[in-house]
Formats: sequence, C-alpha cells, structure tokens
Amino acid sequence: MVKDTKYYDVLGVDPGCNESQLKKAYYKLAKVYHPDKNPEAGDKFKEISHAYEVLSDPQKREVYDRHGEEGLSGDGGGGMSAEDLFSQLFGGGMFNSGQRRQPTGPRRGKDVGHCLKVTLEDLYCGKVSQLKLSKSVMCAKCDGRGGKAGAVRVCSSCQGQGVKLVIRQMGPMVQQTQVTCSDCRGEGEIINKADRCIECSGRKTVTQKKVLEVHIEKGMEDGTRIPFEGEGDQAPGILPGSVIIVLEQKPHATFQRKKNDLYFDAQIDLVTALTGGSFHIRHLDERDLLVTILPGEVIKPGEVKCIEGEGMPSLRHHVKGNLYVRFEIKFPPAYWAAPEVLQQLTQILPAAEPLPQLKDPEEVMLSNVDPAQQSRAEGGACHDEDMDDEPHQGHGVQCAQQ
Ligand SMILES: [Zn+2]
Ligand SMILES: [Zn+2]
Repeated sequence: MVKDTKYYDVLGVDPGCNESQLKKAYYKLAKVYHPDKNPEAGDKFKEISHAYEVLSDPQKREVYDRHGEEGLSGDGGGGMSAEDLFSQLFGGGMFNSGQRRQPTGPRRGKDVGHCLKVTLEDLYCGKVSQLKLSKSVMCAKCDGRGGKAGAVRVCSSCQGQGVKLVIRQMGPMVQQTQVTCSDCRGEGEIINKADRCIECSGRKTVTQKKVLEVHIEKGMEDGTRIPFEGEGDQAPGILPGSVIIVLEQKPHATFQRKKNDLYFDAQIDLVTALTGGSFHIRHLDERDLLVTILPGEVIKPGEVKCIEGEGMPSLRHHVKGNLYVRFEIKFPPAYWAAPEVLQQLTQILPAAEPLPQLKDPEEVMLSNVDPAQQSRAEGGACHDEDMDDEPHQGHGVQCAQQ
C-alpha cells in the first residue's frame, strides 16, 4: 500500500505500474499539456512532470510510496525543469521525433520503406523507374480539418486527452485504470456527424496514388537506399517522413556481382582449353565480348582469369571493376574415340608420369558410382572421421604434454 496516490493519479496510472507504463502515461499527457501545444496548461504540465520526475526515480519513488509528498520535501524539489526533463527523455524539443533537430517545428512522421526489384542490367546501365505508391494526403476539401471551420470540438468526455481514468473498487483497494475514451475513440476531438467533411468522412486525410520517379544510378547495388524526403504519409500536425526506396537485385542468369567485380562461368571445350580458340560473353549492356584463348595457354578446370575493366561501374566516377571468368572444361564423353585415335593422342600429349617401383602390386578396377551411392559414401567418410575423433583427442593431449 502506498501512503498517497496523488502523483500516480496525476499521471493516471496504478500505483503498481512499472517503469514503461509510467513513461507511456507521462508521454501521453505531456503531449497534451506541453506549453507549446497548450499554453494555458502550464501548471498542469509542471505538475505531471514533477510527478513523473519523482516516480521515475526508484529511490524517490520508494520514499514517496512510504511517506508521501512530505517525505520528499527534504530534497528541495529543485531537480530539473519540466521542459528539461521532457527533452532528456524524448530527445530534443517537444515535437521532435529525434531524427532531425527541429526544436520548434512539428513532429516528423515515420519513414516508410519500399522495396524495388532491379536487374543487374539496370544497375550496370542506370535506369529511371516509375514506382506507384498509395499514401495518405491531407484532405484538400476540408484543409485537413475533418469538417467545416469550427466543427471540430475538443472531446468533453476526456478533455481532449483521448484517455479516461476509470476507478474500480476491488475489495478494500481502489484501483485506477486508464482506458481509451470511447466518445472520441482516443482522438481527443469530436466532429458531429453532420459537420464531417464529405470527402474524407472527418478523417482529415485521403488516400492518393503517387508515382515516384526512381533514378537508379550506374553502380548502385543491392540494398542501396534512395530517400524521397517528405513523401511519407501526411497527417494533421506532423511533417511527413520520407519514403525510402531500397533496391533489391534479382539474381542474374550469367553474372554474379561482388562489389564492383563481375564473375562469369565459361564453359569451353577441351580442345579449346588445350589448343586455344574463342568464346563470347554477352555483357550487361548487350555488347558481345569476344574472348580469345591463346594456342597452348592451356586452361584448367576451375581456373579463373580476369578481363580488366569489364566489371561494374563504380557509383561515384563510373570506374569499372574487373570481369572474372571461371572456367569449366567440357570433356568428351566416355569412349568417345577409337583405340587407334587414343593411341595417336598418347603420342601427341605430354607423356604420363611413370609408375614408381612397386613390390608385388594387386590389380584392381574402377567402377562407376551412382550419385546416391556417392553421397552415402561421403556421409560415411564424415561419420568415420567423427568416430576417429576420440583417440585423436587423447593423442593431442599427449602431444601437448611432450
Ligand atoms: Zn476532408
Ligand atoms: Zn474523448
């Protein structure tokens, strides 16, 4: 039991409330009674701020709970001014959401993100995309008032707070709870049905389609954010936030991008790998690059080569990165040539490394492995390693001791 519930009553909270409930209640009331918005309510603002200052400090709250207001008089009541307290808590001025410092301006609305799918071609060449969005705009018919001039009244049921305190008797305890005002549905304002704007039905805003022209610059990438200041939803008393377009690159069929470099998988024939030849790469701007492999260069499977300056343009100066080509070699199918042809090949290709001297070798044959069997075999190998772990561990400890 607390000695005196006055400070709790001022904030409209239950004495058992937690810190976050306290903060919420204070914020809600402070918005209504802040001198910027409600110059006549100066004392009320000081009152709720003082109550909050005490209750938000666990030590002061304990003293207050035990001894009431008198218990606190010792601390001189100096502390912070109501204004400072508010700024400290909610960052900057009264109406500042903290994103942009506008000490006297209206609160800034939320930023809204939209994803725009783009191709790697768009990011390579640049493009202007039209993006159609729905947004709330102030109703032009009523100038965002919701009705004729003078039609909007402060809700008398909640004095414009949007919330009401309900007192409930629970045995010997009196409990206060804060509920949304049912008369104004929490808006703090009432417009008679007859006076409501026909266009927006008193909602003050209407939904409108808007086409944004998104300039995708050469060199932008997956995740690039393009902000449109002030294109967010409009609402009474706030500065609209931004619409932020976030680019999302669709996977490309032939190229992968890593920063400003591109990667391309080239499939070439074995004969080309060994004797040279040409292949082509269709670039992102539809140029065809003719790539030459020199006779005798010998490209190995998995080898990576580089074409300088054919990567992505950088965003600032359009300096291009590199295009890396990963090679896959198309080998001929099994038993592709007659034995005499293979015989000729052995005379042409460099000779195979000779066998080392073997003592009494056993001759074995290779057989083909079906893919399912192969994965089982690999799984088994893995499992064996796990089994081996324990003896290895023991061995490791021994090694460390030596
Ligand atoms: Zn209207
Ligand atoms: Zn109300």
